[in-house]
Formats: sequence, C-alpha cells, structure tokens
Amino acid sequence: MSVPDSNDWIRKASDQVFRSVGMAAKRDLQKDPSGTQISQLVMQAQQLTDSIIRETVEYGPKDRRPACAEGCSACCHLHVVAHPMEVLAAADYLRQIIPFEKLAEIQQRIIRHLEQTDNLDAEARRSIRPACPLLNECRCEIYPVRPVSCRGWNSLDRNVCDADLADPSLKAATPVNLAQYVLAGRVTEGLAAASYSQHLESRPIDFVRGLQIALADPEGSAHEWRAGRGIFSAAVNDNVFPGLPNPDEEEARMTLWKSL
Ligand code: SF4
Repeated sequence: MSVPDSNDWIRKASDQVFRSVGMAAKRDLQKDPSGTQISQLVMQAQQLTDSIIRETVEYGPKDRRPACAEGCSACCHLHVVAHPMEVLAAADYLRQIIPFEKLAEIQQRIIRHLEQTDNLDAEARRSIRPACPLLNECRCEIYPVRPVSCRGWNSLDRNVCDADLADPSLKAATPVNLAQYVLAGRVTEGLAAASYSQHLESRPIDFVRGLQIALADPEGSAHEWRAGRGIFSAAVNDNVFPGLPNPDEEEARMTLWKSL
C-alpha cells in the first residue's frame, strides 16, 4: 500500500475520516446523555488519529516524513485549540492520573500562562510564544490524551521550528506533511459535527482556558457540557483571541457540520 501525496487523495480521505469519526461520536453521544463516557469517546478518536498518522507517514513519500522527535517541543509554544470534549478528557486524565502535588504545579503554570495571554488578539498572542503549561522539561504531562491538534501538527524541518521559536517576528512558514495535518483536522471536525448535531457547544476552545474551567470540577463539567450548558463560553477561541472575521470560512464550517 502507498499513500499518494496529492490534494485529490487528501480530499477524499479527509471526507472519509470526517464521516467515520462524526458518525461514531454522534452514536456514542446519543448513548451517553449524562456525559460519563466522554473520555472513552475522545480516546477512540485520538487512537484513530494516531493510526491515520502512522499509516500516512509510513506509506507516504519518504521525503514528507516529519522531523518531529522526542525532546523537541518547539510546537508546544504555539497556540492550542481543541474540541470541548478533548478539554474534558484532559481534565479527567489530570484529576485521575496526575498526583495532587504535580497537579497543583500545573494549575499554577496555567494561571501564569493566562496572565501572559490575557487580553491579547491572535496576532499578539502568536508573537510572545508562551510555553504550554502542560509542558515540563520538554515533555507533555498529558501525552496520552493530548489534543488532536497537537498530534496533527508536524514539521518537515526542525531548523525552521527552532528559528521561529527563537524569533517569532520571522513568521517562518513551517513545511508540513499536509496529509497528517489535514486528516487530523478532520478528526476534530468530525467530533464537532457530532456534538453540533446534539445541540452542544462545538466551537474550538482555547485549550488552556478551557482546561482551567474543566479542572474546577471535571465530572460536573462533563455533565454540564453534555446537558447543553455554555460552561466554556469564556474559553471559545474566537472570543478569547479575536482575529479578522472570515464569513466564508464560517459558512464552510457550518455546511460541513450540518452535512453529518
Ligand atoms: S498539550 Fe502537550 S503536546 Fe499539546 S502543546 Fe501542550 S505540552 Fe505540547
């Protein structure tokens, strides 16, 4: 088997990924009216993302293999957005798996991060590149449940990442494995379309702000979100980091979500 690196192939594959993730998540949400199975649902979507990425990279063109490797965390200084269910799953993981003292440290890092990024627009936020508060000595504290956007982001050239981190004003364009990036994005859109079909908050969430909200009460937050309450309204990314509105993009997204 080989994975072609063509836009046509990526388009077809991304539609399949969107539909299979969306249909499975929709079915799971319908079976879980109290939100107790959200971590499980998210884990399945993230495992699927990992297997798509593995195959895309393994069977794709050799010169499109990402340079990403353990010990490099340049992209963990970029802005992370996630689906509300991913935020809830990460909060659940932190509460269940991470020792209390360590969690307290992470919560302190979250507070510092929010102080640094409060009241910035998207452009200003990008220019300061604060480290993700889940990053500790070049490792992700929630690696098994890190958002799909973290899994999909990649770089074909580590030098570009290092240069951009050292001087964000360069606005260096990172060369990426497009199939990995696009297909992972379609996993998130599948989750969003599924939750939209159940009239739930589906807009992308600023991961750090969302996490702070969810960590206050992970179980209660999952229940509230599943009940359709706007617990993440203060973390909806477009509200936190307003950029230029793009009505065409918004319309395309709505069309996609409604198509499930
Ligand atoms: S969640 Fe983990 S992988 Fe994603 S940016 Fe933060 S530290 Fe990096």
